[in-house]
Amino acid sequence: GNRDKIGIVGSGLIGRSWAMLFAAAGYHVTLYDTESGQVESAKREIRLQMERLEKDKLLRGTLTADQQFELISGTSSLAECVKDAVYIQECVPERLDLKKVVFSELDKVTGSRTILASSTSTFLPSQFSDGLACKSRVVVAHPVNPPYYVPLVEIVPTPVTESWVVDTTQTIMTRIGQSPVTLKREIPGFALNRIQYAILNECWNLIEDGVLNVEDVDKVMSEGLGMRYAFLGPMETAHLNAEGMENYCERYCNSMYAVCQTMKPTPKFEGRLVKEISDQLSERTPIGELQARRAWRDSCLTKLATLKKEI
Ligand code: NAD
Repeated sequence: GNRDKIGIVGSGLIGRSWAMLFAAAGYHVTLYDTESGQVESAKREIRLQMERLEKDKLLRGTLTADQQFELISGTSSLAECVKDAVYIQECVPERLDLKKVVFSELDKVTGSRTILASSTSTFLPSQFSDGLACKSRVVVAHPVNPPYYVPLVEIVPTPVTESWVVDTTQTIMTRIGQSPVTLKREIPGFALNRIQYAILNECWNLIEDGVLNVEDVDKVMSEGLGMRYAFLGPMETAHLNAEGMENYCERYCNSMYAVCQTMKPTPKFEGRLVKEISDQLSERTPIGELQARRAWRDSCLTKLATLKKEI
């Protein structure tokens, strides 16, 4: 088994998910939070989830739920959380001022061999590590919700992050069964959100131009592109849709370019259309039913993850 220790700073939704992923691979995990009671309620929640997963035969790793839960401890002391940890996963709320405070505290209490990884979805790692001695040990390790079933982790270095930090982060992510991709340099939106926003742009514009309604735009993804994208990306999709990628480009470069030339500038995602889109979505899923719909989404992702493991 793995005897290394992982520290988790912030035990909300994402901190709890990370704790479960690390424990499933046999790591010792120490959860920390500034909110009193939060660590204990996180542990209770983790125990319940692990038991449910075990009952449904969906628990990750080879250890039992009891054994995995045994690996998780909690503390209200940051120093205790990071003591002897090889890797810290920061999971505090998405506010730059808060990230800066937390990383300057981590700078003071960690040694030169500890990796400091942030779960941030939107901030560049240099934005919260500039001026700190630990900057060369800082990376973003951005998970996708829900991380237990969606394996991608985007690893994003600062301009001065040392290569061993990136390499070890990749190794740890692979060891816990996630699928890491490492960006060569930091860039706003990382990769996932840049691609997601490109899709959102075009969907928005199709609705704005009255070509499709909201339901049908979503259908193009869920019944069309998404069916393939769960297994292969747009690049390999193109490769298979002709006699290889070179042939695809030969055949389609002109029409692709011509279509792209008709795309409109980036929408501002504000104004009249916000309410119109929201109303159409709420008709299908009222705000009061979001939680139930999320549970349905997660159960779909569970089944998809199982399917992907089988094939
Ligand atoms: P959350 O609000 O559920 O949890 C944040 C936790 O941090 C809370 O328990 C809070 O008490 C604690 N906290 C606040 N200040 C702290 C401090 N100084 N030290 C230690 N703990 C502190 O938030 P979340 O959804 O778990 O998000 C955490 C991070 O993960 C954010 O950066 C977010 O962008 C990122 N992320 C979230 C998602 C998602 O879908 N929720 C997906 C990917 C990445």
